[in-house]
Amino acid sequence: AGHINWDVTIHVDELPERDGETRIERLEQSGGGSAANVAVGLGGLGGRSIVFGSVGGDESGALVLRELANAGVDPGHVLVDAGEATSVTYVIVDGGGELLMLANEGANESFSAADLDRDTLAAADHLHLTGQQPATAAALATGAAEVGVTRSFDPGRRVRDREYDAALHAADLLFVNDREADALAAGTDIDPRAPTDRVIAVKHGGSGATVHTPHGDVSHPGFEVDAVDTAGAGDAFAAGFLGAALRDSAITGDGFPHDPREYQVPLLVANACGAIAAETVTARTDLSWDRVRSMMGESPESDLL
Ligand code: ADP
Repeated sequence: AGHINWDVTIHVDELPERDGETRIERLEQSGGGSAANVAVGLGGLGGRSIVFGSVGGDESGALVLRELANAGVDPGHVLVDAGEATSVTYVIVDGGGELLMLANEGANESFSAADLDRDTLAAADHLHLTGQQPATAAALATGAAEVGVTRSFDPGRRVRDREYDAALHAADLLFVNDREADALAAGTDIDPRAPTDRVIAVKHGGSGATVHTPHGDVSHPGFEVDAVDTAGAGDAFAAGFLGAALRDSAITGDGFPHDPREYQVPLLVANACGAIAAETVTARTDLSWDRVRSMMGESPESDLL
């Protein structure tokens, strides 16, 4: 559950500066938005996903829904807000992988707790939350907890907003990067680097990630690639982590295991998926087990899959 956008990726020679000249080399468009990216990524890894979120009543909204259905994601619970435009994210990237993101608000926070189909939520194996209004995020996360559905939350910049504390506390798995981990430790009673009662995956960009559990940590240094566009790397990371954990039944009705060894494979797959996203242009990454295996190459770790 979270944002469902239309992404426009603009390739430039150099990031625009005030009064400077910028040459646009190429432009690509695709469906995007963190919730949709994770759902499509999970679909590529063999999972079945449904997205909760909203689009506008315009042509790009219709395109986004069609694209989700083509990718095997059930868009039947996406709210179409006729009075709004579909949210668009403009990602401006230069050859060195530097990027600038501009987004319009549009329809992507129109979805509210009243639009939530609780039966569908209760029938799911897992809820992954990436955004929404604070009250909606809290209703989704606590609603899932009430019906015994495991929850993960990738709060991004929302980690600094205390209105999201209910959703943060209702999640049994959190995805944050290093900066967000610091903000979480400073602003809440959840400190990824101290023993906590939940599982926290901390992403280190090109240096991989660490999974903190109540019973210790597990780290992986990541994969070396020529990064061209790291937008969407976090979404691909979450899709890989959840895809592996759900496939291997690491996540059960009892919640997330507290033994760090259980996260070795999800972490490996997550890093491989993040690296695939970093070496691919556009925030939407097509993931598959074949691509994950080829990222691992001849490494002995590929035996773990
Ligand atoms: P976020 O986008 O959420 O800030 P990161 O930038 O840390 O997250 O990227 C998420 C994951 O993607 C990383 O943990 C890593 O596995 C992978 N990744 C990101 N950047 C690179 C890179 N330059 N090279 C290889 N892998 C990368």
